[in-house]
Amino acid sequence: MATLITKVFIFILGSAVGSFLNVLIDRLPKNEKITGWSHCDNCKEKLRWYDLIPVFSFVFLRGKCRYCHKKLSWQYPIVEMVTGIALVYVLSFRPSEARGGIFLSDPSTSLPLVASLGMTAMLGIISCLIVVFFSDLKYHLISDYILLALFGFSILDKFFNNITIQQYSNFFISGLIVALPIFLIYYFSRERAMGLGDVYLSAITGFLLSWKVGYLALYIAFVTGAIFGSFLIVLHKKKLKSKIPFGPFIVIGTMVMLFWGEKIMEIIKRLYGF
Ligand SMILES: [Zn+2]
Repeated sequence: MATLITKVFIFILGSAVGSFLNVLIDRLPKNEKITGWSHCDNCKEKLRWYDLIPVFSFVFLRGKCRYCHKKLSWQYPIVEMVTGIALVYVLSFRPSEARGGIFLSDPSTSLPLVASLGMTAMLGIISCLIVVFFSDLKYHLISDYILLALFGFSILDKFFNNITIQQYSNFFISGLIVALPIFLIYYFSRERAMGLGDVYLSAITGFLLSWKVGYLALYIAFVTGAIFGSFLIVLHKKKLKSKIPFGPFIVIGTMVMLFWGEKIMEIIKRLYGF
């Protein structure tokens, strides 16, 4: 996996996946069909294949629609690039070894097929998290379909890592434990501070990461959310009372712990001794 050419190839593959994620990000919250050819949101012109080459088309068209010259959203190349980079990262660094080494078998000893299926599940998880991030940011909505897919990939991820029924039930309980504070905020703020989507998302985070690592993910979510929120207020982009979706920050926390959980847990152990 180490050669540059392989990495470039994987990046191109990932950016093509990202281009499909862009479709999900925009169509799922509007309940539109996810099949069917892409068209310009402004002039409705059908986009040709050469308008849809990930990253490249955006750069080549200088971020404008070829037909009506309306500015295209930065979301498109960003999602394509992030997905491409994530794919390269997952395939070369195996983040599945993270999560505090809680349940993962050593990939070098597991069968290649099982290991690659495990990686597919991980890529599914990351793709779903990217969709949640952008659709919640843009439409303040997390589609139930994407939450279901995320949960499904999380179950598969554990399945390919040979966890026992007992461990499964522990992870389910972890999900409930991590979702509890978010549920309480949702309930007592009467949906103003958090939505039901945030509750489900945090439950899946807990299931995926186990409760300790899951709580750390939530902690990162609150901190990054607070920093981002104060920035917007200082820049006068938002008023104190206006709504900032919380889902994207849960995604940031989950991704950080997914990729660097093991290292972060080690540091915490050294500092606090637990
Ligand atoms: Zn157009």
